Amino acid sequence: MTWYTQTGVEYSPLSSSNQKFRMTIAGEDIMQPFSGTFTAALIVASSVAMLGVAHTWADDSPPPPKLRLPADVVAPVRYRVELTVIPDQDTFSGTVEIDLRFAKSTPFLWLNAEKLTVKEATLKAETEKLDAKVIAEPKNYIGFRFARPVGPGEAILQVSYQGEISRKDTRGIFQIKDGDQWYVYTQFEETSARQAFPCFDEPGYKVPWQLTLHVKKNQEALSNTPIASETDTHDGMKTIKFADTKPLPSYLVAFSVGDFEIVDAGTTGKKNTRVRIAVPRGRTAEAKYADETTPAIVDLLENYFGIPYPYDKLDEVAVPLFGGAMENAGQVTYGSSIILAKPDQDTPQRQRNWVWVAAHELAHQWSGDLVTTAWWDDTWLNEGFANWMADKIVNEYHPEWGWKVGEVNSTQGAMVNDGLVSARRVRQSIESPDDIANAFDQITYDKGAALLYMFESFMGPERFREGVRNYFAKYAWKNATSADFLAALAGDNPDIASAFSTFLDQPGVPLITVNLECNKKAANVELSQQRFLPLGSPGAAPQRWKVPVCLRYPEGSGEARECVLLDQPSRQIMLSKTTSCPAWIVANADAGGYYRVLYHGELLNNLLKDDARVLSGREKVALIGDMAALTLNGKLPLGTALALAPNLARDSSRQVIVKTMEITTDPKGNLVPPDLLSQYHRYLEDLYGQRARQLGWKAKPGESEDDRLLRAQLLDVVANQAEDPELFAQAKSLALAWLDDHKVVAPDMVATVLNTAARHGDEALFDRVRAAAKLEKDEDSQSKLLSSLGLFQQPQIAKAAFSILLSDEFNIRQSIAILVVAHDSPKTRDLAYDFVKQNWDALMGKFPTDWGAFMPFVSNSFCDEQRRHDAADFFEGRSTKYMGGPRNLSQTLERIDLCVAYKKTQQPSLIRFLERYGKEN
Ligand SMILES: [Zn+2]
Repeated sequence: MTWYTQTGVEYSPLSSSNQKFRMTIAGEDIMQPFSGTFTAALIVASSVAMLGVAHTWADDSPPPPKLRLPADVVAPVRYRVELTVIPDQDTFSGTVEIDLRFAKSTPFLWLNAEKLTVKEATLKAETEKLDAKVIAEPKNYIGFRFARPVGPGEAILQVSYQGEISRKDTRGIFQIKDGDQWYVYTQFEETSARQAFPCFDEPGYKVPWQLTLHVKKNQEALSNTPIASETDTHDGMKTIKFADTKPLPSYLVAFSVGDFEIVDAGTTGKKNTRVRIAVPRGRTAEAKYADETTPAIVDLLENYFGIPYPYDKLDEVAVPLFGGAMENAGQVTYGSSIILAKPDQDTPQRQRNWVWVAAHELAHQWSGDLVTTAWWDDTWLNEGFANWMADKIVNEYHPEWGWKVGEVNSTQGAMVNDGLVSARRVRQSIESPDDIANAFDQITYDKGAALLYMFESFMGPERFREGVRNYFAKYAWKNATSADFLAALAGDNPDIASAFSTFLDQPGVPLITVNLECNKKAANVELSQQRFLPLGSPGAAPQRWKVPVCLRYPEGSGEARECVLLDQPSRQIMLSKTTSCPAWIVANADAGGYYRVLYHGELLNNLLKDDARVLSGREKVALIGDMAALTLNGKLPLGTALALAPNLARDSSRQVIVKTMEITTDPKGNLVPPDLLSQYHRYLEDLYGQRARQLGWKAKPGESEDDRLLRAQLLDVVANQAEDPELFAQAKSLALAWLDDHKVVAPDMVATVLNTAARHGDEALFDRVRAAAKLEKDEDSQSKLLSSLGLFQQPQIAKAAFSILLSDEFNIRQSIAILVVAHDSPKTRDLAYDFVKQNWDALMGKFPTDWGAFMPFVSNSFCDEQRRHDAADFFEGRSTKYMGGPRNLSQTLERIDLCVAYKKTQQPSLIRFLERYGKEN
């Protein structure tokens, strides 16, 4: 459970700056409707605790494992788990039987367990039944000692115990209320299965499970497999026995219990697999779009893999107030705001997000579930692969959505993160529980996906798919590693595996410098590589990859494309398909590469000529991202980038327009000096104002989905960055009207309307929004209301908003949004930071487990040395105590350092540009 998005740029394919950001936590892919850009992923809490807590055990006992269970002593063969689970109870009872195979003789056994109280444990070895005495329960582990050494050979461990059903965390077994009903769900990735049963809680132990649940007679229970038998036990309860699972690691086991309504979504795939959607009582109508789309997504996945959907059924479960989604085999869970929408409140953005998330989770049924990574250091094989596949499926399913253009932002976002010296490698060795938490980051998800895309482009999609199919066929029902994947992919071409490894095993982004020199006989391109490092970075630039560089240039009346594997610091290439000097050259053809490009001489201007018409939409998005990055490393003066942006800001493509905001906006208010604000506002107004007003706040009959999707982003920038008083007056009256009647504002504009009104709102409006949030029954509307409370700018109102976090007025999983949006705004970020400092202990008491690890995010917008030192002093020893905390803090501090250096170098160029802009326009 990590988060991090902290990149400062939005990288969701759907939207850009200030609107939404995707968070990936523990295998959960999340779109959160906060209007902040930088944010930590505060949605999911880990219940995994740190190692090394004091404990005692018998003197002759071995010490507990440091990180992993000893691999050479004993392994599970099969589990049988029996649990009694009643929603609204804070505990559950259970029995687990584990068939074990001992490789050697031992009197001891270590398993993973957490927050479990063992009542009784025995070991059946041959014909004998031995006591298994609990000798130690340090965090994460439980140790047993047998009356005599057992093994080698087989034995059965039986443990009966009690555990917790959390109301605070969304890890382990937890419960959430919807309406007046409690529902129980599970979330075991990465390491929370140990809160449900003592087990070998590592992905490499992949064996069959058989689950039996005792539940209330009138309730439904779902798990990974179909129900094998159901027996009434005449005490108001029933016993549900589920069929044996295929081999699964512990983190993919799941169940749900409650008064669900079950929607039959028909069948899918070559095996006619039954698809159902489980929703909280009364919400069947909201599953309409998921019901219509799931079977088609599974079909498309089957076609790609060439392997039928691997499991006997597919249930999709809606989990209220849950921020993500999880690929449990045969029983996928999704946050209710991802999978459900009232038909009259549904939006194109929600539907597109749903299809992408569903494609990601369902891709995992093969990549992650059918073939599982051997250990967490290869998490990219699950997550990067699922992200890459989700993009592919969305493009195939709905080519008219233009996802191909927007998806470039995922690569771009990963490259921003990868510019930090504190960035992880895709394959980073796991040395502590912190490393497991940090493994679920943007590098794993988006860099992993970008690398797959790059090598697919380089190898060609057919050859690539053949390699992928070979890999899944060979390792089905088993575990695999990066080496296994690369061997299957590369076939007999060793260059592919070695080139791919240069990106997996070292951090950073290559910066490719391009120079074109022509003579009478030939056109020569010089390519060179070094690590891209922003201004102020302590990293060293010399670093070498084997980079697949693909070039595109005009040839005769058409165009040519050629690719090279750049494995030297620099190399000259004679263009093979032309002898004349090309009028332009694209050095990242179709934006397929994971690298940034620096064009020499006139090459950049040649591409931007005539509104960059030679570039594809993907190439435009990549080029704008590269231009923004080149201002970060000082190769492009910010003033020059601002002068070039208008060429692209008038583009017909929504994604291209939105991408220019990465260059043109200053959402954290760190760069534009107060005396130049009016010129700056005019600049933004000139770029976006006319289009924003044309679109207006309300949808026009018959308008395109692109216009609908662009509206919120453009109005947000013109109202809140260009400070257009007319627009925020309109937003305020719309917000007031919406508070009375939700029908007067389109659902996809509600957040922008509320946020804009709040930014300019007074105490009376604050009180109204707060009161409305309290009365609101709809989860989505309530989240939007709460989020807007964090945007009021007056200090006393902001303080009142923060105090909500300390009260029990709202679920903390929703009210955290107040802090998330407030830290981003120049007027409230100090107040947000001070609030966290002053109330640290109280907040830690209220937050779900391990949210503390993400809290340095409140200093993400700082851009001066004094605040940087203050944040370092405060968080060191506090946030660093929580899972994944140390790296989160070091990344935040590095970002502040980079901002300081950036401001010092680029602010003068910005000032010159705005002064001139004021005179000329
Ligand atoms: Zn995933």
